[in-house]
Amino acid sequence: MTTDPHATQAAPGGPRPWARTARGANLLGSDGRLGITIFEEVTALAQHHAAINLGQGFPDEDGPREILDAARAAIADGANQYAPGQGLAVLRDAIAAHQERFYGLAVDPQTEVIVSTGATESIAAAILAFAGPGDEVLTFEPFYDSYGAVIGLSGATHTTAPLSAPDFQPDAATLEAAFTDRTRIVVVNNPHNPTGSVFRREALELIVRLAERHGAIIVTDEVYEHLRFGAAHVPVATLPGAAARTLTISSAGKTFSVTGWKIGWLSGPADLVAQVRTVKTFLTYTSGTPFQGAVAVGLGLPDEFYDSIASTLRRKRDLLGEGLRAAGFEVFEPEGTFFTMVDAAPLGIDDATALARRLPSLIGVAAIPVAMFCHEDGAERTRSMLRFAFCKRFDVIEEGARRLATLREHV
Ligand code: PMP
Ligand code: GLN
Repeated sequence: MTTDPHATQAAPGGPRPWARTARGANLLGSDGRLGITIFEEVTALAQHHAAINLGQGFPDEDGPREILDAARAAIADGANQYAPGQGLAVLRDAIAAHQERFYGLAVDPQTEVIVSTGATESIAAAILAFAGPGDEVLTFEPFYDSYGAVIGLSGATHTTAPLSAPDFQPDAATLEAAFTDRTRIVVVNNPHNPTGSVFRREALELIVRLAERHGAIIVTDEVYEHLRFGAAHVPVATLPGAAARTLTISSAGKTFSVTGWKIGWLSGPADLVAQVRTVKTFLTYTSGTPFQGAVAVGLGLPDEFYDSIASTLRRKRDLLGEGLRAAGFEVFEPEGTFFTMVDAAPLGIDDATALARRLPSLIGVAAIPVAMFCHEDGAERTRSMLRFAFCKRFDVIEEGARRLATLREHV
């Protein structure tokens, strides 16, 4: 790269300007450009400054050889044309078997599962299928960026229930106040990006009761279901009363370290899935054929594989956590995902967004400002917070920690 992506961008309107589409959707352009996410912006900065990228959440090592070989074999064997719109049968069968094996959930691979282009497309298709002008879509805050953008595209109103430090668990009173009779969908991301929290069963049960009371559909984003360091994962769909109104979404990207393959899936009651499938048909029709069979191989890997990804990541979390504490941050220890959130206030830093834009050139490390996952009030509450990714090689995390230890000298 020859140009500094930061230097070439004006940032009109402050750190979080909005771009408006013809439909009136507010799409977050992280530095004022349409369609540029904060993840892309930070990765470009990291590349430009040859910084250690603890920003965008992607692993820097390949996943299991079996699935990489399966994808290569599929291409060699000619699996290169459109897959059926709902996904290859072999993958739908593997998704159903995975839900049964890990959670005792019975889903019919013919009518209750679709394959999508990453979890991102399932999230978009579910929101566009069920929400529109006059409806509210409720998410927790901070929230993953695509939720805000797609809710905007749907024409619905985005409402939020804030999660607060230090444990970022849903608060019962806040949740009750956030639901209204216009709440059409509640999006539950658990384990939660960017806070790393794993929601307690009681909180999930309350969400189900409130969704029932207000007639809302529950859309869950469980892409980090296997990346946990303690409590078991509880899919909302397994809770009493939930199955008939819950769409469960996950993805191969995180579990198998193949974020570039963009294979995700959604399961739930046949009538709801059929509507999502209709929207998916006209978004992309179908998703990466040769990767689908390979992901099916991954879903069938033995328990040792699943245990080892969680235990390796846990050691990475601990290593990064030590480095962040030594650097002077307040660290909020995550129970899941591959992200650690910190508060930079103890270092005398109150504008973490400005810091994140300087960090790659300052000390050669990249991180994501948490305010980017928030609306205005939430951005104020999380103004001094950063998110660091630890899905990186041990030596990379160690070098990142060494560089972070020098931050005090610069601020
Ligand atoms: N949801 C959350 C919470 C995420 O962090 C991500 C990023 N991986 C996604 C969805 C997108 O997943 P995919 O790459 O499978 O579209
Ligand atoms: N999910 C990843 C993250 O939160 C990457 C997202 C992206 O680049 N769109 O960092």
